[in-house]
Amino acid sequence: MTSERHKVVIVGCGFAGLFAARALKRAPVEVVVIDKTNHHLFQPLLYQVATGVLSEGDIAPPIRDVLRHQSNVSVMLGEVVDVEAANRVLTVDTLGHATRVSYDSLIVATGASSSYFGHDEYARHAPGMKTIDDALELRGRIFGALEIAELAPDAIAREPWLTFAIVGAGPTGVELAGQIAELCRRALSSNFRHFDPKSARVILLDGVDHVLGPFPERLRRHAQRDLERLGVEVRLSTQVVGVDDEGLDIKSADGATGRIAARTKIWAAGVQASPLGRLLAERAGATVDRAGRVEVQPDCSLPGHPEVFVVGDLMALNGLGGVAEVAMQSGHHAARTITRRLRGREAKPFRYLDLGTMATIARFRAVVSVGRLRFTGFLAWVMWLFVHVAFMTGFKNRVAAVANWAVAFLGRGRRQRTITKQQALARTTAPAPQIVNTNGSPAVAQATASQR
Ligand SMILES: Cc1cc2nc3c(=O)[nH]c(=O)nc-3n(C[C@H](O)[C@H](O)[C@H](O)COP(=O)(O)OP(=O)(O)OC[C@H]3O[C@@H](n4cnc5c(N)ncnc54)[C@H](O)[C@@H]3O)c2cc1C
Repeated sequence: MTSERHKVVIVGCGFAGLFAARALKRAPVEVVVIDKTNHHLFQPLLYQVATGVLSEGDIAPPIRDVLRHQSNVSVMLGEVVDVEAANRVLTVDTLGHATRVSYDSLIVATGASSSYFGHDEYARHAPGMKTIDDALELRGRIFGALEIAELAPDAIAREPWLTFAIVGAGPTGVELAGQIAELCRRALSSNFRHFDPKSARVILLDGVDHVLGPFPERLRRHAQRDLERLGVEVRLSTQVVGVDDEGLDIKSADGATGRIAARTKIWAAGVQASPLGRLLAERAGATVDRAGRVEVQPDCSLPGHPEVFVVGDLMALNGLGGVAEVAMQSGHHAARTITRRLRGREAKPFRYLDLGTMATIARFRAVVSVGRLRFTGFLAWVMWLFVHVAFMTGFKNRVAAVANWAVAFLGRGRRQRTITKQQALARTTAPAPQIVNTNGSPAVAQATASQR
């Protein structure tokens, strides 16, 4: 790589950033990919890491390895903490070391994180599902709760540990609820001596009156029926108005209030754009929408800064949703626009090709919507499987995932159940152990009740 080449810096190597980098493979440019993690994450399968189906390595290959054959790309681990749009320079923090990186063109693809709708204090008790850290923490909490249930002295002490509450009935919430239900009803038989995992309650809550918001009505109803058949309690038109260590406060549409005692709470209710979007908008004189997404021109560039592109979940354009296809196509478009301009050609507006939506509910059950076509059940699940294998990054990851799926879906196993105390208690500090009795009887539930 020579320094005279046009330098494209891509911030974020999720779907949008990776597709942008790949689209520049044959372009006469030098590419620098910066990400605050060392891996490219396949977010749609995070819930399977949390529920012991897949390992984190299956869905998060190292970025360096993914891009190793693309000689015009170099990879940098670091979080972009500042942007000087006027000087075309970024400040990057790599494990406490600051570096300044200049660019000729910039593609910002830093995605989104969980939104607690102004109640960030809920995060401590109800992790979201956006990163490998989140998924491993949730895995620690789910399997940790089952361990504590095994030690509980009676059914009353056990119940909150065997209650799993998921807030948000969009695709992530539905997939999580289905997987936790299947884990408890199917995969864990004969694993515990003092309770039957089938007795676990899985509760899915949402403030609106349907599951799977982005899907057509018929598929929503189908998905809800499938969940209920799996034993998931679907509570719609129910708002969560409080979250603490021991459970959730809820309010239904008729104003009635209530309480759910649940030690494991998972937040799948909302997203907000990565904070870099707001910072970039301030520095470049752009605007953000209510979710903090940066409003872009039809070609995905910033007004007044044709050299800066914002793509993927961070981009606000034509009401496009935060889905993987939008990210891939917009990343690809930004890269192609840079090469078009280098060849002296005009930029074209971004046109999104909607390839449909899908969600899986449990093994052999999914819903798929493609244009006017609707699929449910086994056929939809096979389609889901095919698409996910096709879009996973790396041959080895595909093979590993298919092997793990065979174990989990054809058999009953969940091989990826390793948990660590560090992960399970990641957001909290573990209190000093409190000895309740010394006669060896399983009476530690009250002592451990304050762990989270
Ligand atoms: C649990 C879950 C399930 C989903 N399921 C589906 C699904 O079934 N179908 C579907 O179409 N979509 C699904 N999505 C949405 C889809 O994953 C996103 O739309 C897509 O990942 C967005 O891609 P992106 O590249 O814009 O952002 P991301 O994939 O979020 O990537 C952003 C990258 O930027 C990096 N980054 C962030 N801030 C900085 C910074 N300051 N400096 C450097 N790097 C930074 C991050 O580490 C990350 O690698 C799901 C999302 C989640 C969370």
